[in-house]
Amino acid sequence: MEFSIIATSDIHGHTERFSQLAKMIQKEKPALLIDNGDFLQGSHLSYYYEQVKKDIHPQIALANELLYDVAIFGNHEFNYPLNEIAHMRKACHFPWIAANIRDFARPYFIKETHGIRIAVIGVVTHFVPQWDEDDYTTSLFFEDALASAKRTVQHVRSHENVQLVILSYHGGFEQDLHTGHRIDLEDGENQGYAMLQQIDGIDIFITGHQHLEIATKVNGISVVQPGANAHCFAQITVTIEDDEITHSPELVYVDNSIQPQTFDELNQWKNTWIGESEIDFSYSDFFSPRFQSIPYTQLIHQMQLHYTGAQLSVTELPYHSTGGFPKNIHYGDVLHNLPRANHLKVLALTGSEIREALELCAAVFAINDAHEIDFSSTVHYPEPQPYTYDCWGELDYELTISQAVGQRVTKLHYQGREIQPDDVFEVAVNSYRATGSHHFTMMKKQAIREVPTIIPKLIMRYIHEHSPIKITLESSFQVRK
Ligand SMILES: [Zn+2]
Repeated sequence: MEFSIIATSDIHGHTERFSQLAKMIQKEKPALLIDNGDFLQGSHLSYYYEQVKKDIHPQIALANELLYDVAIFGNHEFNYPLNEIAHMRKACHFPWIAANIRDFARPYFIKETHGIRIAVIGVVTHFVPQWDEDDYTTSLFFEDALASAKRTVQHVRSHENVQLVILSYHGGFEQDLHTGHRIDLEDGENQGYAMLQQIDGIDIFITGHQHLEIATKVNGISVVQPGANAHCFAQITVTIEDDEITHSPELVYVDNSIQPQTFDELNQWKNTWIGESEIDFSYSDFFSPRFQSIPYTQLIHQMQLHYTGAQLSVTELPYHSTGGFPKNIHYGDVLHNLPRANHLKVLALTGSEIREALELCAAVFAINDAHEIDFSSTVHYPEPQPYTYDCWGELDYELTISQAVGQRVTKLHYQGREIQPDDVFEVAVNSYRATGSHHFTMMKKQAIREVPTIIPKLIMRYIHEHSPIKITLESSFQVRK
């Protein structure tokens, strides 16, 4: 007897492509269908439903139609306040689980199918509170995911009379599965490798969070990580013969001959004109906006300083090779550049803290074999990590990449004067940076003030109110060899 278990992870609201996967999943008629978290947050469609239409995301109806059995909380589920999570859970015809969030959800889910009992245990990386920009999770307690998974697997094995145990972890691997080489910091964000080494009694291990594509066997355990953004799903074929259960994992990729569901309303909204600028603010290569001030980043700084009254401003760039704004600016242009629902915080930072933050930014670069400035190989694995690089506004500075990491800030001026270590500035940063993640610990401090409106909405308002846009900011920075 044979049946299949299907797992998705990190769909991030890419419902158009998910609708293609959905048709494929429907055909397979899986005995068990699991989502491993980061289900809705992260797409233009999600932004539209959260911020503009303020309605239940259409991906939930699709998931209900597909008869998902269970979903595991991902870290991005907590980008929403608890009452919105409660709403979302109510709309889902399947339970959301997490063993390591105290008194919040069921720890596991049991299904009887094909004459056996299967347990699905859910855990989420316990780093969730570290990324909480809006204090949504302060009333929740996240236990160490490894400890919680170990305890729950033991419990299920000894009390639930199950024949198959699936651990579904919204987290990834700190070490390469086959070589054991470290691929991530040993800080506890990703504990998948340790789970495989230290927990007895797992048959199938579903992972996610790192957006890697993995389908392999490790010590007899089927291990999968089905990528991200609905490009594929993981399918585990289970065979039962003479009471012996075997299983084998594979990834199944989206079939692009299937017509995706389209959302005309979203496209109409994205094509709505907001305002215009005197010049074209667009750029078309990856590095130029990262190597010097360009009109687009100056505009973002101008807007951030306008709404915060801060002295300095920090902005990040999306991981796109094209961006900025055309002369006629539409809602879709804003989302392309600023897809995240961050808000602005004003922090008091000293001259030495500013220097430290810039050194972290400078560390993403290296000089490659062709003697050009390139990203350092350390920022590319396991996925590009552009969120460790910021551009600063109203600050005149220079980063020299031929210098050693930690000594690359070779000029640091404010209004024509060299910044001293004890000088203090009011700096506008996004709420993500203000969590102090990725070693930006100098940013983790009480904000002097905050602007609760999210950054994409602020720039939409700024463009609308200041059209035609002019750049008045004169500061500049340069990244050089
Ligand atoms: Zn994700």
